[in-house]
Amino acid sequence: MPAEERTERLPVWNDSGRVLQINEIFYSIEGEGLRVGEPTTFVRLARCNLRCPFCDTEFDRFTPMDIEDIAAEVARHPAEWVCLTGGEPLGQNLAALAGRLKEAGYKLHIETNGMIAPNPVLFELIDHWTVSPKCYPVVAGFARITELKYVVGRAFREHRVEEHRADYVYLQPESSEPRYVQKALEILKRHPRWRLSTRIHKTLDLP
Ligand code: SF4
Repeated sequence: MPAEERTERLPVWNDSGRVLQINEIFYSIEGEGLRVGEPTTFVRLARCNLRCPFCDTEFDRFTPMDIEDIAAEVARHPAEWVCLTGGEPLGQNLAALAGRLKEAGYKLHIETNGMIAPNPVLFELIDHWTVSPKCYPVVAGFARITELKYVVGRAFREHRVEEHRADYVYLQPESSEPRYVQKALEILKRHPRWRLSTRIHKTLDLP
């Protein structure tokens, strides 16, 4: 996808980040990757710079929310972890929100598609970095990546996995389709350090 198509839908605000476009805030368990099973409050930032054909997230709707209101909503839920997700969370200035939530004692997780270089301030604030690339390669500027999580579908290319950039590599079969589960299992035979990720929240019908 050409860069201009990828960027035209980004919010990318060059402001203080005191007010953010929020799609939803909800409590569930983390259903994917390394943190699977941990109770988590999800803050879904609106909008995305991509339009993946398999995307099942409705991210265009939003409410502008002050970070104090976001923190108050997060505090209603009994989770230690807060996951900043989207849409594409790095399409907005997250520094103030991440600082506010860190001050309140939360552990912070971010899930990004890896197409926007993070504000370096976030490296001090975010505990767990999930990069789930839908285009290759992941842009420069990620100081550390906890887990790279690839959707394995028709377009997935095994040789584009940037294993050296992350602590863990996960393969997640697209829409849990049996043919892609099989494809992921075959790839794992060649890469025994990589892991399979399924979406257990979908299986359990959780948000
Ligand atoms: S990057 Fe994620 S949120 Fe954005 S369109 Fe693709 S799957 Fe959906």
